Amino acid sequence: MNILVTGGAGFIGSHLADHLLARGHTVTVIDDLSTGRHANIEHLLGRPDFEFVLGSILNPDVVDDVVSRAEGVFHLAAAVGVQLIVDHPLRSLATNIRGSEIVFEKANKYGTPVLVTSSSEIYGKNRSDRLGEDDDRILGSPLKSRWSYSEAKAIDEILAYTYWKEKGLPTVIVRLFNTVGPRQTGAYGMVVPRFVAQALRGEPITVFGDGAQTRCFCYVGDIVSALALLITDPDAHGRVFNLGSAEEVSIAELAEVVREETGSASKVRFVPYEQAYEEGFEDMARRVPDTSRAHDLIGFEPSLSLREIVRLVIEEQRSAP
Ligand code: UDP
Repeated sequence: MNILVTGGAGFIGSHLADHLLARGHTVTVIDDLSTGRHANIEHLLGRPDFEFVLGSILNPDVVDDVVSRAEGVFHLAAAVGVQLIVDHPLRSLATNIRGSEIVFEKANKYGTPVLVTSSSEIYGKNRSDRLGEDDDRILGSPLKSRWSYSEAKAIDEILAYTYWKEKGLPTVIVRLFNTVGPRQTGAYGMVVPRFVAQALRGEPITVFGDGAQTRCFCYVGDIVSALALLITDPDAHGRVFNLGSAEEVSIAELAEVVREETGSASKVRFVPYEQAYEEGFEDMARRVPDTSRAHDLIGFEPSLSLREIVRLVIEEQRSAP
């Protein structure tokens, strides 16, 4: 099958392209390299079963062309990373709302199944024990960049659901919780590559807030295998799935894990949120997914522990030029 991956030069998209190619599919990637990186797909260039289109999902003609040739679309192109969203709110909204509208419109024109990656940001400040797909969203003002991102992702979900309900287009929504692994860049805020880079350079590890906030980090390889299974499962169509790990860790503990695994003498520096992001910034205190829906349908189960994932990131950064 010929599969289109929008945002396929990004961290998750490029791992997904590798995964699909390894399973015998041909893959087209469209990416404007705004946050995606050429280096992520360099090893694929020149393969007869791989095509890279340098272009934006905001360009309807380019999207029409790549979708017309695809038998399935993974729509991952998005402005992601809390730092990027806070720094460039307008550009983020355009990509995440108008870009998705164009992708769904073209997929519907050709009747091509679409899987769209949404985010755990959907749940906002809901700090339940295990966030289930039907749980409520608790959001702050849409005038705060972080919540506007959550709203944009909600619109993506509504588009996917409505195209399925009204037009019968096979669509799947996946809410990704914190996903980590090699190729993720710390440039847009992501905490694991940032902490590892700081530790390896012997610089202070910057914990934002008091470090008591918790997250669950899942290995990117587990996520992309699940995405590939979900798009082909008719029982997934018209539905939403959480994907992520349930191994909860506080950010202060994460800093310790990184210090131990790197053997670094870096100190931990606590940075107030308003200094790290912007005045009035609100963080999520806690974010733990309930992934039983994906487990029941496709047997989803994270394979690597936090320490194992951190080791992979350290290995990558140590071997980087
Ligand atoms: N964080 C931190 N130091 C950093 C970058 C992030 O303490 O240098 C914190 C951030 O405030 C959040 C957590 O780490 O509480 C996860 O941040 P990330 O941006 O990786 O993901 P998200 O906020 O989307 O969960």
